[in-house]
Amino acid sequence: SSLKRVCVLGSGNWGSTAARIIGNNVLRLPDFDDRVNVWVYEELVNGRKLTEIINTEHENVKYLPGHKLPANVTAVADAREAVRGATHLVVVIPHQFVQDLLDSIRGSVGPGARAISLTKGIVISTQGMTTMTQIIHRALGIPAASLSGANIAGEIAEEKYCETTIGCADPVEAAVWSSLFNTPYFQVNCVSDVIGVEFCGALKNVVAVGAGFIDGLGLGNNTKAAIIRIGFLEMRRLALHMSDAQIQDATFMESCGMADVITTCYGGRNRLLAEAFVKTGKRMSQLEQEMLNGQKLQGYLTAGEAYSYIDSRAMTDNYPLFTNIYQICYEGKHPRSIFDGLNVDFSRD
Ligand code: NAD
Ligand code: 13P
Repeated sequence: SSLKRVCVLGSGNWGSTAARIIGNNVLRLPDFDDRVNVWVYEELVNGRKLTEIINTEHENVKYLPGHKLPANVTAVADAREAVRGATHLVVVIPHQFVQDLLDSIRGSVGPGARAISLTKGIVISTQGMTTMTQIIHRALGIPAASLSGANIAGEIAEEKYCETTIGCADPVEAAVWSSLFNTPYFQVNCVSDVIGVEFCGALKNVVAVGAGFIDGLGLGNNTKAAIIRIGFLEMRRLALHMSDAQIQDATFMESCGMADVITTCYGGRNRLLAEAFVKTGKRMSQLEQEMLNGQKLQGYLTAGEAYSYIDSRAMTDNYPLFTNIYQICYEGKHPRSIFDGLNVDFSRD
């Protein structure tokens, strides 16, 4: 048929919430097939396959319990099968798994397809720094947009009003993506700055770790506001550097920028586990296993990726907060040393 068709790749907390929004929206979009496939990383939950639970109960009981998915959303365990015939791919898995997933579907995605990344993360390798949309474009040869915002999934599943930012270079494509996501409680604003949106989403997770350390130390609102302010400025400085100044400063004032830094430093998982890191002395990876029931952290990994970029270019003096957060996470530095050397001049950025 000539109908467009969506496949959501990922079914965690945010993936399931996004599938719920899209599954409802396609029902009133005449250009789109009502059927939406969701690729589920298969696992057993109480002895039953998660795909089977989702397809019979219409609920992702592990990653988004208490919220029904529309009946036109189908869980599929085989990624190649899930993407077959899809024109619109929504990539929403933790960033550490994106490359492997894309490798597994290469050849199954049609040439006219396009993608949007809801994943928050960057990858540093010997080839340099890449964003998720760049990885998607390289792996599949299709255009990719980005979506990021002050978007704690559980609150969106409860339909509490919020905003989000779509980064898409082509205004016609941007309008289509917006129609798939926008709802009265999920207000989309589109910008043309695809990677600016992505850098904000990835790097705010490092600031969230810093905010969690402040909470773990029992310090107050003023201290956290200071970390948010400095974190925001280091994030902006690093994104400008990594993108070779190809991003728009205005992007930082969208939901994906300052608003996400705020919500993530108060309500996110990275904040929560960074607080527990200070209080228990356990490693982040161990706390992730103990506390998140399969959900994944991006912040401590992105702190490592950002630091390897900063350190390999001898720029640690320009990024004291990001450097301290890295050293607290990985090198046994005391959380109280988060304040070391924070008197940086950002006035010429
Ligand atoms: P999640 O952290 O809730 O769940 C982890 C997911 O990863 C599960 O679906 C699990 O099945 C899957 N998984 C585990 N091992 C895997 C593997 N080897 N390969 C592929 N998948 C595997 O997931 P989420 O919250 O949907 O997060 C996805 C992305 O969305 C992340 O980048 C996150 O930063 C971003 N995000 C999350 C939220 C939120 O509030 N949860 C909001 C905005 C953006
Ligand atoms: P956490 O992964 O820290 O929960 O952050 C979610 C998020 O990205 C909110 O916008």
